[in-house]
Amino acid sequence: IKVSQKKDNNETRITFEDIGGQDTAKNELQEALDFIKNYDEVKRMGIRPLRGILLTGEPGTGKTLLAKAASNYIDSAFVYASGSEFVEMYAGVGAQRVRQLFNTARNLARKNSKRHCIIFIDEIEIIAGSRGKNNSHMEYDQTLNQLLVEMDGLSAKDDDVNILVIAATNRPDILDPAILRPGRFDRIVKVNLPDKEGRLEILKIHTQDKPLDVDVNLDAIAKETFGFSGAHLESLCNEAAILAMREKEKKIKQKHFLEAIDKVIMGEKLKRKPGK
Ligand code: ATP
Repeated sequence: IKVSQKKDNNETRITFEDIGGQDTAKNELQEALDFIKNYDEVKRMGIRPLRGILLTGEPGTGKTLLAKAASNYIDSAFVYASGSEFVEMYAGVGAQRVRQLFNTARNLARKNSKRHCIIFIDEIEIIAGSRGKNNSHMEYDQTLNQLLVEMDGLSAKDDDVNILVIAATNRPDILDPAILRPGRFDRIVKVNLPDKEGRLEILKIHTQDKPLDVDVNLDAIAKETFGFSGAHLESLCNEAAILAMREKEKKIKQKHFLEAIDKVIMGEKLKRKPGK
């Protein structure tokens, strides 16, 4: 059984400064994480430790980046899993994988200097869609039940380690209300599409290592890209560089960015209408 593990490698060295815009989400997340940083004080005050945070929002808005930055912020170990990894034909396999994921996190936490581990579960809706409604298959019920059991057991079992589950979804509307009960994912952080200022910050982040011509006006690009996610903007910067290279330019010009906007929009349209 494979559970993706990413611990203390470069990928988890993402900080909140590497994430453009998303000020509200960053603040809310940091506020929640400060509870974990002050774990001993929280325990002393008899406060129920925070066990789960749910990040909701459109694809490509930076939810995974936020989870990685969170791990860096509290110096924790980090385990990644996607909801799709728990889907199997055979009953019980999904539940077993959930158990294994939490065991991995416990082991990593024990090796971590702060004894912290963040479990990040992307696409949580795949296992936590409303029980018996969206998924008629028993398998999903068992997997979700196991996730709930593991989360409920965290405070009791793990006195020596502190495990936080961060889950992400772009379909909060279909989640089983059971996962939102106190002690489970009781903090919800909304990650919105970036506004103009946010888009400008993201464009700056993704052009910082690229040679830009003096005619480049990122502010104008930010204005032109209403509705773009962070992932779209990253792809836009990459496309602009490719276009410039094709034209054998030494620097990326404004026209390359403008052309790249169309490319990204076209690509998005093709994704929505496959085959057309
Ligand atoms: P999904 O819901 O599809 O899993 P996500 O919300 O988790 O998406 P990420 O995986 O965090 O999105 O973002 C994908 C990529 O888009 C990032 O690796 C990064 O290059 C870029 N990106 C997204 N949001 C931001 C942001 N706010 N600042 C900088 N880069 C961003």
